[in-house]
Amino acid sequence: MALTDPLELLDFDGLLSDEERQIRETVARFVTEHVRPYVADWFEDGTFPRELAPELGKLGVLGMHLDGYGCAGTSAVAYGLACLELESGDSGLRSFVSVQGSLAMFSIWKYGSEDQKTEWLPRMAAGEAIGCFGLTEPDFGSDPANMRTRAARDGDDWILNGSKMWITNGSIADVATVWAQTEDGVRGFLVPRDTPGFTSRTIKRKLSLRASITGELSLDDVRLPASAQLPLAKGLGAPLSCLGEARFGIVFGSTGAALDSLRTVIGYANSRIQFGKPIAAFQLTQQKLADMAVDLNTAALLALHLGRLKDAGTLKPHQISVGKLNNVRRALAIARECRTILGGSGITLDYSPLRHANNLESVLTYEGTSEIHTLVIGQTLTGHAAYR
Ligand code: FAD
Repeated sequence: MALTDPLELLDFDGLLSDEERQIRETVARFVTEHVRPYVADWFEDGTFPRELAPELGKLGVLGMHLDGYGCAGTSAVAYGLACLELESGDSGLRSFVSVQGSLAMFSIWKYGSEDQKTEWLPRMAAGEAIGCFGLTEPDFGSDPANMRTRAARDGDDWILNGSKMWITNGSIADVATVWAQTEDGVRGFLVPRDTPGFTSRTIKRKLSLRASITGELSLDDVRLPASAQLPLAKGLGAPLSCLGEARFGIVFGSTGAALDSLRTVIGYANSRIQFGKPIAAFQLTQQKLADMAVDLNTAALLALHLGRLKDAGTLKPHQISVGKLNNVRRALAIARECRTILGGSGITLDYSPLRHANNLESVLTYEGTSEIHTLVIGQTLTGHAAYR
């Protein structure tokens, strides 16, 4: 008797509470109905349908792990499970939700004033307003401490100059959290879309995360009132703490891309006949499937372990690095191996694995590259910081 879900191998769902299982099922149903039938077209067209934002708001996944201001206030594990199911649809969809909830909303929720929270969070939770998070610059990615974007005082106002690169939702966002260097170190600012001097453009010709909008932001003498500054964000630790939130979602999410890839090819291998029998019956195919299922299940257990630590309030940044490094690397390897089982059919958008693999190339790079996470773990083991 074949399993219907490769995560049944180690009874993953048996480790979840009824509420967690229900959230997983609800998001899975949403992805099956609203995403899976259309996502190949979005990927091919290089678009993310803005209309999906209010639907995701109704589903309750935007800022779902935050408390108050229209957010659901779920556990970290529940948020992770939602990321897993969203990314089983497409990494672009999970990226939208991560950036909205864990980067843009979290930065306001954690570091914003009461006015900023009431102005933005309820609309963002409902998907009526879209946010983005501008940290990376054309010349500074892994090394944000050296960012060039500057905010200078002019009376009570701030004047911002600089540019931000590779910003998810950048050209469709209603509000951008922009990080800039000031006389007192890095500070965060909320820049509404229509602010004079603030422009954005969509980055084209991407081969990865095509069902996600990636933009470049330009700030040319952008004048902001004092109230636009995030009052509690002091130093680079503030944006880095937001990235920790989003990376946590990736630990679960990447597992979802691997799950969808594996599920797809188990079905295919059972129906594809060569040499008079299903290719699933050949030992080489079974070896691939078994190796991938072991990797997938261990990745899911690692994600769940980190989720339980997060809910207990003890999760440390280097542990998120372990999860991100391992699970994205495993997911990418699984998606590529799944593509081989599909043969020629695997190179089209009719099957998900190559789309997932292409997406996971971005996931391997953003929110800290695999090399940087390796060096974080290296530093934890040895006490030496090798990236400086
Ligand atoms: P670099 O930092 O130039 O790195 C290039 C290579 O050098 C990498 O392999 C890196 O690991 C390696 N390297 C760098 N320094 C070291 C070192 N000390 N030791 C060893 N190797 C090193 N950013 C945002 O702020 N907001 C977003 O919403 C956002 N969304 C993104 C969406 C997509 C699709 C992509 C691709 C990127 C996004 N990013 C975003 C940017 C992302 O976080 C950066 O691309 C990432 O941090 C790497 O920076 P970089 O591209 O400048 O590469």
